[in-house]
Amino acid sequence: MKTNYPKARELMVERQIARRGIKDDYVLRAMRRVPRQRFVPDALREFAYEDSPLPIEAGQTISQPYIVARMVEAARIRPGDRVLEIGGGSGYAAAVIATIAAHVFVIERHEVLANLARRRLKALGYRNVEVRTGDGSGGWREAAPFDAILAAAGAPSIPETLVKQLAPGGRLVMPVGDTPHRQRLVKVTRGEDGETTREDLGEVLFVPLIGEQGWPDPTARAPDVEEPRKPEPDADTQLLRKRGIALPALDDEGFGACFDRFATARVVLLGEASHGTAEFYAARAAISRRLIQAHGFALVAIEADWPDAAVVDRYVRHLPVRSEPEGAFARFPTWMWRNAEFAAFVEWLRGHNATREPAQRVGVCGLDLYSLQRSIRAVVDYLDRVDPEAARVAKHRYGCLVPWAREPAEYGRMALSEGYGRCEKAVLEMLQALLERQLQYGGKDGESFLDAAQNARLVRDAEAYYRAMYYGAAESWNLRDRHMFETLQHALGSRGKDAKAVVWAHNSHVGDARHTEMGWTRGELNIGQLCRESYGERVATIGFGTHGGTVAAADDWDGPMRIMDVVPSLTGSYERLFHDADVSPCLYDLRAATEPELHGRLSSAKLERFIGVIYRPRTERWSHYAEAALARQFDAFAWFDRTHAVHALAETPGKGMPDTYPFGL
Ligand code: SAM
Repeated sequence: MKTNYPKARELMVERQIARRGIKDDYVLRAMRRVPRQRFVPDALREFAYEDSPLPIEAGQTISQPYIVARMVEAARIRPGDRVLEIGGGSGYAAAVIATIAAHVFVIERHEVLANLARRRLKALGYRNVEVRTGDGSGGWREAAPFDAILAAAGAPSIPETLVKQLAPGGRLVMPVGDTPHRQRLVKVTRGEDGETTREDLGEVLFVPLIGEQGWPDPTARAPDVEEPRKPEPDADTQLLRKRGIALPALDDEGFGACFDRFATARVVLLGEASHGTAEFYAARAAISRRLIQAHGFALVAIEADWPDAAVVDRYVRHLPVRSEPEGAFARFPTWMWRNAEFAAFVEWLRGHNATREPAQRVGVCGLDLYSLQRSIRAVVDYLDRVDPEAARVAKHRYGCLVPWAREPAEYGRMALSEGYGRCEKAVLEMLQALLERQLQYGGKDGESFLDAAQNARLVRDAEAYYRAMYYGAAESWNLRDRHMFETLQHALGSRGKDAKAVVWAHNSHVGDARHTEMGWTRGELNIGQLCRESYGERVATIGFGTHGGTVAAADDWDGPMRIMDVVPSLTGSYERLFHDADVSPCLYDLRAATEPELHGRLSSAKLERFIGVIYRPRTERWSHYAEAALARQFDAFAWFDRTHAVHALAETPGKGMPDTYPFGL
């Protein structure tokens, strides 16, 4: 799909810049004007408005939009100003400054970057920017004095020569730190009398300023210099080693028991860091077995569509099998639930239920809403059995959506262009009519009524979801996760007042969104957050993570599944921290009440990896990492340093296979 850059830019300014507290009108206006996609390599244009730095030529980075805005605001750039930028990189920040100031002088040490920036700025019509190649750590004497100086790379201390090049009243904003990659953003203001004042603007992560007044050039090291020794483990690593609970092997009976500490919760949410990792499925199966056997959990709710999970539910609860032409989980991504690890759990659950009374049998339900067509069919089929006249009305009402049932996104597009949801009223009326007849219909077969009602809810929510898709990702994401939460509540409610559930869904759904970039910058919520808000302490959220290995995923939506290598985790990420602690498999209890020190240390924003059904190792940092405060996001984290792809089952049932395929083989 072609990216709508002006819209993406507008959203960037609103969500990443204004919402985070940047108020300076000059900055907001400039950020709204500069086309950031023109300053990144072509292959990364689609990520130009993401909330992160991106790689550019010469192994350097273009800064995160927010940090550019923050620095320009701190430097209080005004029309008429002469500004020096040190570390021009792509030229993007220079363009933002040039939109406000009278003249911008830019120094960049890499010639390729300086040339590219010059060309880009010229092509975009910036006539007030001068770019030169060289070491900018000593400033630009001939062009001084400056009203403002900004450095986009970190030095060990503020070079005095730069302060001297400030005009009276001038501002210098630059990262300073005693290691090359971790700094504090510092602002120095030169008073009219030459006196300087210094302000600390908080922690930042910049590349090092390499030069005479900065750090030595690492590539200039003499070849016979000894390699630096592996550093001593730092305090975080030592703490992780001390507080981690080493887990037994996945097939060891004791594995599940390590999670008993969370069994008092009413809902235990089990995450996964990818949709295609065997260890995450096997671990969730082991934990769920324990919660069911030893703690009376009655429901397993999974991130799958309701009708698909209903096939499994009937199978595990020994209910009569309904004819399902496609079997369960036939739509992309099939491997997410058609895999040997999940199938083994299903077989176990069926065995567990075999000796129990029907009312005591543990069920499975699907939380997702991508089954518009099948759900419509399920409601109509149900009514055909219990009330053929109502089935006729249902066909008429759903008839509005039928032309789009195969390509529901097209419905969303139409709804947007017409300005309203043509089928909204019909799907709502259908659900209401069904619920009003609960007593009449439910008397005949309560189970089937609940199933039909849930499918009717799904159709209602899916209609809204596809409509919202065109208004922006956050709205549709929120509708989807609200649907998941409501489905969980209905399913729990149908099982009795105190029924307890295990949820299997991705970390991005399970971990409380309020403590991740999703919530901070995009206003997204998730089922983990909604559960926390409703159940408080009676919910446990457990995230899962890995450093490397293989994963089953596709290159693109609807593409074939491939087994891919997972890129080793990034320096500075939570995953790298766990990898360095070197205990695997391992469970970390992150709750403030039980592990105050660990909770405190793992509560600051750091990168965390999220792989879904699509995996793009080439652009891994920008496609798969986002910031999160891990110990606030999850109550616990299960770590598997090396992991393997799930064992996918054949995509289509073989001839003569039972209707319950791929279960009950
Ligand atoms: N503001 C830039 C942008 O919008 O693309 C981001 C620049 S990047 C974070 C930092 C840049 O500083 C790199 O391109 C690096 O080559 C440059 N750099 C590092 N040391 C330098 C020095 N002594 N003089 C000039 N540039 C330097």
